[in-house]
Amino acid sequence: MKEYLKHHEWEIIEEGLDPHYNKISESVFSIGNGRMGQRANFEEEYTGETLRGSYVAGVYYPDKTRVGWWKNGYPEYFAKVLNAPNWIGIHVSIDNQKLDLAKCKVEDFRRVLDMRRGLLSRSFVAALGDGKKLRVESKRFCSMANGELGAIRYAITPINFTAKALLSIYVDADVVNKDSNYDEKFWEEVYKEASEGKAIVTAQTKKTFFHVTTGMRYVVETDGKKAAIDRINLEQREKFAGNIVQVELKEGKETAIYKYAAVLSSENHAKDQLVKACNLVLDNAISAGFNTLLEEHAKVWEHKWEECDITIEGDIAAQQGIRFNIFQLTQTYTGEDERLNIGPKGFTGEKYGGSTYWDTEAYCLPFYLSTAEPKVARNLLIYRYKHLDKAIENAKKLGFKDGAAFYPFVTMNGEECHNEWEITFEEIHRTSAMAYAMRDYIEYTDDKAYLSEYGLEVLIGIARYWSQRVNFSAEKNKFVVLGVTGPNEYENNVNNNWYTNYLGAWTLRFTQQAVDYVKSADMKRFNEIVSKTNFREEEETSRWKEIVEKMYYPMDEKRGIILQQDGFMDKEILRVSELKKEDRPLNQKWSWDRILRSCFIKQADVLQGIYLFEDDFDIETIRKNYDFYEPLTVHESSLSPCVHVILASKLGYKSNAYDLYLRTARLDLDDYNNDTEEGCHITSMAGTWMSVVKGFGGMRVRNGKLYFNPFIPDQWKSYSFRIEFRGRVLKIKISKEGVETKLESGAPLEIDVKGETVQLK
Ligand code: BGC
Repeated sequence: MKEYLKHHEWEIIEEGLDPHYNKISESVFSIGNGRMGQRANFEEEYTGETLRGSYVAGVYYPDKTRVGWWKNGYPEYFAKVLNAPNWIGIHVSIDNQKLDLAKCKVEDFRRVLDMRRGLLSRSFVAALGDGKKLRVESKRFCSMANGELGAIRYAITPINFTAKALLSIYVDADVVNKDSNYDEKFWEEVYKEASEGKAIVTAQTKKTFFHVTTGMRYVVETDGKKAAIDRINLEQREKFAGNIVQVELKEGKETAIYKYAAVLSSENHAKDQLVKACNLVLDNAISAGFNTLLEEHAKVWEHKWEECDITIEGDIAAQQGIRFNIFQLTQTYTGEDERLNIGPKGFTGEKYGGSTYWDTEAYCLPFYLSTAEPKVARNLLIYRYKHLDKAIENAKKLGFKDGAAFYPFVTMNGEECHNEWEITFEEIHRTSAMAYAMRDYIEYTDDKAYLSEYGLEVLIGIARYWSQRVNFSAEKNKFVVLGVTGPNEYENNVNNNWYTNYLGAWTLRFTQQAVDYVKSADMKRFNEIVSKTNFREEEETSRWKEIVEKMYYPMDEKRGIILQQDGFMDKEILRVSELKKEDRPLNQKWSWDRILRSCFIKQADVLQGIYLFEDDFDIETIRKNYDFYEPLTVHESSLSPCVHVILASKLGYKSNAYDLYLRTARLDLDDYNNDTEEGCHITSMAGTWMSVVKGFGGMRVRNGKLYFNPFIPDQWKSYSFRIEFRGRVLKIKISKEGVETKLESGAPLEIDVKGETVQLK
């Protein structure tokens, strides 16, 4: 764990440039607006360690799968999150010396992310080789008010010289993905133009033929007035267009470049209209000006924060942590476009590929359910409804039939695009995350009509998958699920992972309930679904019933705990506290073979199941399982600590809950898992939110009623959060003195606080 960044309630602050830390900061200080995103790369040239990253939502590249040994059923390609054309570039050259922070002396370096306004700033003093010193201050944002717009103010003040400078202001589609399987470039040029004050490049992706138009216009000012420009040269080469502006930099005077960039994709415009639409965005931006655009952008953030801020008094590190998580989540997914989803790295890195994992349903949904209008969560469900045909195709490819639906582990468009056999074929629990999300959504919103409209079709497909995936063991006289990987990916090809068996059987029960509901609510629609899906109700549901009744669950009766899978107790049972520091993280220090044989658990597995189906277990069962599994868990998936926080809070293990909370909340800020340079862990950030609201706040919804059973960590004076619930907005504040609940808007509501009924008016 590194404590590199300064603690502050609303800002992330880096002081001093440590080149070894740069890629981590590039991830942490990323900005986005749901449509586009940008790592905190420097505008000027930088030959030090960097991971260049600009991203456009929904645009991907199907990179041909690369594996050592091909296995039938592997997807042909892995969908890469694309590094998109660079819109931030401003290169500076003074008397033939390039400004490059890897090559000059840097003082007073400061990078600040103002989360309240979504503004990234950077400042430094650089000394060039010949002793010329200059001060640079840059600010930039991806506009929340216009998802296709980015703006930069880049200001240079010479400290001890007056000299001619060349400023290269450009857009560049000649970019690469670091994770390209065959070192191939994914973009081809379609169109470019450069004229005085402007440049535009349209590039298309190979194979998928997405068009992205990236354009820029700029204004140069000295001391607040239009600068006297000596000369402008147009610069064009393949996939690149820009201007080289020659201007005199005067000692003590600030020269500022205002660069406005438009990033548009064919996902939102007809291909032949992209350039026209790009010009419109640029023209509007230049006439509004940087300050107005920034104000409009900041206003949207202000509104967002009103909806979803969590305040913590008395602990700045914790406050900064939670706000950082909310900030990143909010700028990754705004819920406005139902074709989009929440990738594990959001707009902060290319690692992982794909935009959608089970993370969305299992982790992110609760955040959007409580902090945004119901439409947002509904859109996330509909996203999967639209992928049902592909899920059926995925299942078919693996030999399943009759409309069985197997949702992908990783996807961009519904097709599986992940190719590790132990995950692609074996981590099958993910297909039921879609079913669980429906339950979660309906419980929270009461929108049961969702089942008739969309849900039941999906459930029938998933239920069919399970009814074909199980097999009957004559030996056990039970149904078993063989050859799986549970959520704990440090075990592969195990039999009867308890979580998987439990979730599979639950899905069948839930689907039966959905069938009954739709039949009673809307028989006409039910008949439509029957004929659309060829549903053989009696035959299929009686098989489901049989499986539910005879599902096998591995247990350790002696210890009174659930077994993660068959044979788990054959392992040498050690505790994480016995591991040497040099051995962590295991996935970077141990061979895979050693990991598989060990008892150490990557992420919540049995505990994931207990968390999802909490009310199925009495408190003693929860305690015994937690006491057994928590000490074995290394939390090397960012998704893990939040689940433990929620259970630890329920069990009254306050300090354990608090330690784990800090770990999830500051995971990227403190680079806990040594991997933040590849991007931030966006999906687990929703888990951080859950840690506070469901963990410390003890919020639950049962039979349509809201329950809170809060406690306050000793380190905090108070904390408060807002939630939306069935047309109301509630504010909950927990302090040492007690719990304050307030209905900010909506009809009166009865809730339960620590076992007492409270009427909110
Ligand atoms: C976790 C998965 C998760 C993926 C993406 C992996 O490390 O084990 O559960 O879906 O990361 O976040």
